[in-house]
Amino acid sequence: MAVYLHENDLPDGALAPGPVAVDTETMGLITPRDRLCLVQISDGLGDEHLVRFAPGSDFAAPNLKAVLADPARLKLYHFARFDLAAVEHYLGVVAAPVFCTKIASKLVRTYTDRHGLKDLVRELLGKEISKQQQSSDWGAPTLSDAQQEYAASDVRHLHAMHKILVERLEREGRTAIAQACFDFLPMRARLDLAGWAERDIFSHE
Ligand code: MN
Repeated sequence: MAVYLHENDLPDGALAPGPVAVDTETMGLITPRDRLCLVQISDGLGDEHLVRFAPGSDFAAPNLKAVLADPARLKLYHFARFDLAAVEHYLGVVAAPVFCTKIASKLVRTYTDRHGLKDLVRELLGKEISKQQQSSDWGAPTLSDAQQEYAASDVRHLHAMHKILVERLEREGRTAIAQACFDFLPMRARLDLAGWAERDIFSHE
């Protein structure tokens, strides 16, 4: 089990076939303003790969883009909406098909309003993760060990949670509604980028 930091792209053959867990770190929450600094990716076998982009990067990253755009590879996220927007805006690819653990959690854990990654990892896996580095400077020229560990831990548990959430969705009869939501997420992210981030076009107002 190791964390690998790469500059600008994934090396060849870094990932085994199958679903990949994906997360991003940016300079902030306003995607067109706040540049993409890091893409974390894991095949679920124990290693995490961090791909760092320096200021002024051309975001070429052919290996990373090939994995993200591969229609045969399911991408696991926690709050896919944000990561899909960042990936589309900076890397120019739609990183689908999608499974979002936050949406799945909202559809099955109706007994709580705590759907953060930390809460979900604690309840489903009985593990503690730290969110201490969440609001740190991801654009810094060198990432600290604590930042790298935090970034890696954000993708470390998604495969295990995906497995459990698939069963829970099935048990509650919400697999189809979840799938429809996941299928819509790339377009939801595009609405965010196009200016409909706050306004809900499904609401009456
Ligand atoms: Mn993260």
